[in-house]
Amino acid sequence: MSEPQNEYVADAAPRELITGVSDHPGHRLASYFVWPALLLGAVFFTSLGMQTDYPLLSFYGVYVVFALTIGGIERLLPHERTWLQDDHQSGANIAHTLLNKGALPMLAVIGVIFGLAETEQAADVVADGIWPSEWPMVAQVALAMVGAEFGLYWAHRTAHEIQFVWRFHAVHHSVTRLWFLNTGRFHLVDSFWSVLFSQPILFLMGAPADVILMFGAITAFIGMLTHCNIECRTGVLDYVFNTPQMHRWHHSKDLREGNTNYGENLMLWDQLFGTYFNEPRRPPADIGIQTFMPPTFVGQMVHPFRKEQGVADPMMSATREEAS
Ligand SMILES: [Zn+2]
Ligand SMILES: [Zn+2]
Repeated sequence: MSEPQNEYVADAAPRELITGVSDHPGHRLASYFVWPALLLGAVFFTSLGMQTDYPLLSFYGVYVVFALTIGGIERLLPHERTWLQDDHQSGANIAHTLLNKGALPMLAVIGVIFGLAETEQAADVVADGIWPSEWPMVAQVALAMVGAEFGLYWAHRTAHEIQFVWRFHAVHHSVTRLWFLNTGRFHLVDSFWSVLFSQPILFLMGAPADVILMFGAITAFIGMLTHCNIECRTGVLDYVFNTPQMHRWHHSKDLREGNTNYGENLMLWDQLFGTYFNEPRRPPADIGIQTFMPPTFVGQMVHPFRKEQGVADPMMSATREEAS
């Protein structure tokens, strides 16, 4: 019997046929290298771009190529075949992404103000500050990641544990398939919540502008990879990074799996605060939330503000309490 390659297979079919798991040696080999290769490749080209006069523009160029590459590989090496099916959320996903990206210039302005680390004015202040500017760039970026991740971790964890904040974060979790296009699907309020927790840490630490840019780029690349529908065997990397495997647990409907793995890039704070979760089995393909979410972008923007919502999801509250 020939194995279907790209078409949808009914739920009744064996799981091997529904998922993207392939025994082809080339596919298996690729599944080990695809995650690190994509990440390192994107970081490499971003660092080249940073040496030009247009670092931000170069990053956006790399990001677009990166996204299209992932979109292509998802068709060739899918993790879940069912996730290749259209969920009619592409319009909403793109609208959320553009709105968030549109708000980004505001954050860039903040970045420039605080990124004055490089100007003469701020040079004295930073010289007395705690930021180790003499460290190699790689070490500085790693330090920025560890510091900012502390904020990102708590932004994300509180978004799951405080019911009012969850309303906004639920927009992200309402998807029923994971693929590169829902990477940027966050309610604007949810995005600001994360920025509020993470950016001040970087600024207080006195991280220079190029370190902040590289941190932002890596966060964008890892963020897209966590949502990709590519079969990745990340092995020991799962202990350190927020890999697709780790984030698929996070999108589980079962909150014992879903209320875990809050790290944006790193698993460090999950390890320390006891929310790290991984098991040697495939995370569920049936993902999403247990409450209603409007299908349209406008509906999703308005829904978290609706008063009746809190009353309308006792099931969610009950399950969430039970899980915590
Ligand atoms: Zn979440
Ligand atoms: Zn996600």
